[in-house]
Amino acid sequence: MQTVEVSVADRVRAVREAIATAAERADRDPTAIAVVAVSKSVGRDAVDAAHTAGIRHFGENRVADAERKFAGSRPSNTTLHLIGQLQSNKARPAAHLFDLIESVDRASLIDALEKEADRLGRPIPVLLQVNVAGESQKAGCDPQAASGLASRLGASPAFALRGLMTIAPLVEDAEAVRPVFRALRELRDRLRHDTSLPLDILSMGMTNDFVVAVEEGATHVRVGRALFGS
Ligand SMILES: *Cc1c(COP(=O)(O)O)cnc(C)c1O
Repeated sequence: MQTVEVSVADRVRAVREAIATAAERADRDPTAIAVVAVSKSVGRDAVDAAHTAGIRHFGENRVADAERKFAGSRPSNTTLHLIGQLQSNKARPAAHLFDLIESVDRASLIDALEKEADRLGRPIPVLLQVNVAGESQKAGCDPQAASGLASRLGASPAFALRGLMTIAPLVEDAEAVRPVFRALRELRDRLRHDTSLPLDILSMGMTNDFVVAVEEGATHVRVGRALFGS
Protein backbone atom coordinates (compact mmCIF):
# COMPACT_ATOMS: atom_id res chain seq x y z
CA MET A 1 0.00 0.00 0.00
CA GLN A 2 1.11 3.46 -0.75
CA THR A 3 0.79 6.30 1.71
CA VAL A 4 0.62 9.81 0.45
CA GLU A 5 2.69 11.97 2.73
CA VAL A 6 2.51 15.70 2.44
CA SER A 7 5.92 17.04 3.30
CA VAL A 8 6.61 20.02 5.51
CA ALA A 9 8.15 21.69 2.45
CA ASP A 10 4.85 21.27 0.53
CA ARG A 11 2.93 22.73 3.45
CA VAL A 12 5.31 25.68 3.74
CA ARG A 13 4.81 26.37 0.06
CA ALA A 14 1.01 26.18 0.37
CA VAL A 15 0.96 28.57 3.35
CA ARG A 16 3.23 31.03 1.54
CA GLU A 17 0.97 30.90 -1.52
CA ALA A 18 -2.11 31.57 0.58
CA ILE A 19 -0.33 34.52 2.22
CA ALA A 20 0.76 35.90 -1.15
CA THR A 21 -2.78 35.70 -2.52
CA ALA A 22 -4.24 37.39 0.56
CA ALA A 23 -1.54 40.08 0.48
CA GLU A 24 -2.29 40.78 -3.16
CA ARG A 25 -5.99 41.18 -2.41
CA ALA A 26 -5.12 43.68 0.32
CA ASP A 27 -2.55 45.48 -1.81
CA ARG A 28 0.25 44.50 0.56
CA ASP A 29 3.81 43.32 0.01
CA PRO A 30 3.82 39.56 0.71
CA THR A 31 7.52 39.63 1.62
CA ALA A 32 6.66 41.88 4.57
CA ILE A 33 4.75 39.02 6.21
CA ALA A 34 6.69 36.53 8.32
CA VAL A 35 5.57 32.99 8.95
CA VAL A 36 6.19 32.01 12.57
CA ALA A 37 6.14 28.22 12.53
CA VAL A 38 4.54 27.08 15.77
CA SER A 39 6.53 23.98 16.63
CA LYS A 40 4.98 23.26 20.05
CA SER A 41 3.64 19.86 19.01
CA VAL A 42 6.56 18.64 16.91
CA GLY A 43 10.18 17.69 17.48
CA ARG A 44 13.43 19.02 16.22
CA ASP A 45 13.30 16.93 13.03
CA ALA A 46 10.18 18.79 11.85
CA VAL A 47 11.76 22.09 12.89
CA ASP A 48 14.78 21.29 10.75
CA ALA A 49 12.56 20.33 7.81
CA ALA A 50 10.75 23.66 8.07
CA HIS A 51 14.08 25.45 8.30
CA THR A 52 15.28 23.72 5.16
CA ALA A 53 12.07 24.90 3.48
CA GLY A 54 12.99 28.48 4.34
CA ILE A 55 11.25 29.10 7.67
CA ARG A 56 13.27 31.41 9.92
CA HIS A 57 10.82 32.14 12.76
CA PHE A 58 9.73 29.52 15.26
CA GLY A 59 7.15 29.86 18.03
CA GLU A 60 6.91 27.85 21.23
CA ASN A 61 4.35 27.97 24.04
CA ARG A 62 6.46 26.70 26.91
CA VAL A 63 9.91 27.67 28.06
CA ALA A 64 10.93 24.12 29.02
CA ASP A 65 9.88 22.66 25.64
CA ALA A 66 11.75 25.37 23.79
CA GLU A 67 14.87 24.80 25.87
CA ARG A 68 14.81 21.12 25.09
CA LYS A 69 14.33 21.74 21.38
CA PHE A 70 16.44 24.84 20.75
CA ALA A 71 18.86 25.61 23.59
CA GLY A 72 21.66 23.30 22.52
CA SER A 73 21.85 24.17 18.85
CA ARG A 74 19.62 26.50 16.99
CA PRO A 75 19.03 26.29 13.23
CA SER A 76 20.96 29.14 11.63
CA ASN A 77 19.55 32.67 11.49
CA THR A 78 16.35 31.81 13.28
CA THR A 79 14.25 33.99 15.57
CA LEU A 80 12.60 32.21 18.48
CA HIS A 81 9.23 33.55 19.67
CA LEU A 82 7.55 32.83 22.98
CA ILE A 83 3.82 32.81 22.20
CA GLY A 84 2.39 31.07 25.29
CA GLN A 85 1.48 32.46 28.66
CA LEU A 86 4.56 33.22 30.75
CA GLN A 87 4.68 32.77 34.51
CA SER A 88 6.74 35.43 36.24
CA ASN A 89 8.94 32.77 37.83
CA LYS A 90 10.03 31.69 34.31
CA ALA A 91 11.05 35.21 33.31
CA ARG A 92 14.75 34.45 33.60
CA PRO A 93 15.02 31.45 31.26
CA ALA A 94 12.51 33.06 28.89
CA ALA A 95 14.49 36.29 28.66
CA HIS A 96 17.65 34.30 27.99
CA LEU A 97 16.30 31.94 25.36
CA PHE A 98 13.74 33.84 23.31
CA ASP A 99 14.38 36.58 20.78
CA LEU A 100 10.86 37.95 21.11
CA ILE A 101 8.41 37.46 23.97
CA GLU A 102 4.98 37.92 22.41
CA SER A 103 2.90 37.25 25.51
CA VAL A 104 3.60 40.22 27.79
CA ASP A 105 0.22 41.17 29.22
CA ARG A 106 0.42 42.35 32.83
CA ALA A 107 2.33 44.57 35.21
CA SER A 108 3.64 41.74 37.43
CA LEU A 109 5.27 40.04 34.43
CA ILE A 110 6.72 43.34 33.28
CA ASP A 111 8.26 43.77 36.75
CA ALA A 112 9.84 40.32 36.58
CA LEU A 113 11.20 40.80 33.06
CA GLU A 114 12.56 44.22 33.93
CA LYS A 115 14.84 42.63 36.53
CA GLU A 116 16.10 40.14 33.96
CA ALA A 117 16.88 42.87 31.45
CA ASP A 118 19.07 44.47 34.12
CA ARG A 119 20.86 41.18 34.57
CA LEU A 120 21.24 40.64 30.82
CA GLY A 121 22.40 44.19 30.26
CA ARG A 122 20.19 44.62 27.20
CA PRO A 123 16.59 45.42 26.43
CA ILE A 124 14.19 42.49 25.97
CA PRO A 125 12.19 42.59 22.70
CA VAL A 126 8.51 42.14 23.49
CA LEU A 127 5.00 42.38 22.11
CA LEU A 128 2.04 43.42 24.20
CA GLN A 129 -0.61 40.70 24.04
CA VAL A 130 -4.13 42.10 23.92
CA ASN A 131 -7.31 40.14 24.59
CA VAL A 132 -9.24 42.01 21.92
CA ALA A 133 -12.30 39.80 22.01
CA GLY A 134 -12.53 39.94 25.81
CA GLU A 135 -12.71 36.17 26.22
CA SER A 136 -12.53 35.60 29.96
CA GLN A 137 -10.32 32.49 29.85
CA LYS A 138 -7.78 33.92 27.42
CA ALA A 139 -4.45 35.55 28.14
CA GLY A 140 -3.79 39.11 27.09
CA CYS A 141 -4.52 42.47 28.63
CA ASP A 142 -7.83 44.22 28.43
CA PRO A 143 -7.85 46.65 25.47
CA GLN A 144 -8.51 49.48 27.95
CA ALA A 145 -5.28 48.62 29.76
CA ALA A 146 -3.18 48.50 26.58
CA SER A 147 -2.28 52.17 26.48
CA GLY A 148 -0.95 52.21 30.04
CA LEU A 149 1.05 49.02 29.61
CA ALA A 150 2.42 50.10 26.23
CA SER A 151 3.50 53.44 27.66
CA ARG A 152 5.29 51.69 30.50
CA LEU A 153 7.03 49.23 28.16
CA GLY A 154 7.92 52.02 25.76
CA ALA A 155 9.37 54.23 28.48
CA SER A 156 11.48 51.51 30.14
CA PRO A 157 15.06 50.94 28.94
CA ALA A 158 14.49 47.27 29.86
CA PHE A 159 12.26 46.69 26.85
CA ALA A 160 12.10 47.07 23.13
CA LEU A 161 8.35 47.14 22.50
CA ARG A 162 7.97 45.96 18.93
CA GLY A 163 4.19 45.76 18.56
CA LEU A 164 1.04 43.87 19.49
CA MET A 165 -0.17 40.29 19.52
CA THR A 166 -3.61 38.75 19.79
CA ILE A 167 -5.28 35.35 19.69
CA ALA A 168 -8.67 35.41 18.00
CA PRO A 169 -11.53 33.26 19.27
CA LEU A 170 -11.75 29.84 17.69
CA VAL A 171 -14.68 29.94 15.28
CA GLU A 172 -15.90 27.93 12.34
CA ASP A 173 -15.89 30.82 9.90
CA ALA A 174 -12.71 32.90 9.88
CA GLU A 175 -14.65 35.89 8.53
CA ALA A 176 -16.25 36.13 11.97
CA VAL A 177 -12.92 37.15 13.55
CA ARG A 178 -12.06 39.85 11.01
CA PRO A 179 -13.26 42.56 13.44
CA VAL A 180 -10.82 41.23 16.07
CA PHE A 181 -7.86 41.62 13.72
CA ARG A 182 -9.06 44.99 12.53
CA ALA A 183 -9.44 46.16 16.13
CA LEU A 184 -5.85 45.15 16.93
CA ARG A 185 -4.57 47.10 13.94
CA GLU A 186 -6.60 50.15 14.92
CA LEU A 187 -5.38 49.88 18.50
CA ARG A 188 -1.81 49.71 17.18
CA ASP A 189 -2.40 52.84 15.10
CA ARG A 190 -3.76 54.71 18.13
CA LEU A 191 -0.89 53.62 20.39
CA ARG A 192 1.60 54.52 17.71
CA HIS A 193 0.11 57.99 17.58
CA ASP A 194 0.00 58.34 21.38
CA THR A 195 3.45 56.91 22.20
CA SER A 196 5.49 57.71 19.05
CA LEU A 197 6.79 54.12 19.19
CA PRO A 198 7.10 52.39 15.80
CA LEU A 199 5.11 49.27 16.89
CA ASP A 200 5.93 47.58 13.59
CA ILE A 201 4.77 44.09 14.47
CA LEU A 202 1.19 42.85 14.39
CA SER A 203 1.26 39.17 15.35
CA MET A 204 -2.15 37.74 14.51
CA GLY A 205 -3.63 34.82 12.61
CA MET A 206 -3.26 31.07 13.07
CA THR A 207 -4.02 28.05 10.87
CA ASN A 208 -7.77 28.73 10.80
CA ASP A 209 -7.67 32.45 10.17
CA PHE A 210 -4.26 33.63 8.93
CA VAL A 211 -5.61 34.62 5.51
CA VAL A 212 -8.06 37.06 7.10
CA ALA A 213 -5.33 38.30 9.45
CA VAL A 214 -3.05 39.07 6.48
CA GLU A 215 -5.85 41.00 4.81
CA GLU A 216 -6.20 43.03 8.02
CA GLY A 217 -2.50 43.86 8.32
CA ALA A 218 -0.72 41.01 10.13
CA THR A 219 3.06 41.23 9.83
CA HIS A 220 3.56 37.87 11.59
CA VAL A 221 1.22 34.90 11.35
CA ARG A 222 1.67 32.07 13.87
CA VAL A 223 0.97 28.83 12.06
CA GLY A 224 1.18 25.35 13.55
CA ARG A 225 -1.18 22.74 12.11
CA ALA A 226 -1.08 24.05 8.54
CA LEU A 227 2.69 23.38 8.52
CA PHE A 228 3.07 20.33 10.71
CA GLY A 229 -0.34 18.62 10.56
CA SER A 230 -2.62 18.16 13.54
C1 LIG B 1 -0.79 26.80 19.04
C2 LIG B 1 -0.76 28.26 18.80
C3 LIG B 1 -0.72 28.76 17.49
C4 LIG B 1 -0.79 27.89 16.26
O1 LIG B 1 -2.07 27.35 16.14
P1 LIG B 1 -2.48 26.48 14.83
O2 LIG B 1 -3.94 26.48 14.90
O3 LIG B 1 -1.85 25.15 15.02
O4 LIG B 1 -1.95 27.21 13.66
C5 LIG B 1 -0.61 30.13 17.35
N1 LIG B 1 -0.58 30.98 18.40
C6 LIG B 1 -0.64 30.52 19.67
C7 LIG B 1 -0.58 31.49 20.80
C8 LIG B 1 -0.74 29.15 19.91
O5 LIG B 1 -0.82 28.70 21.17
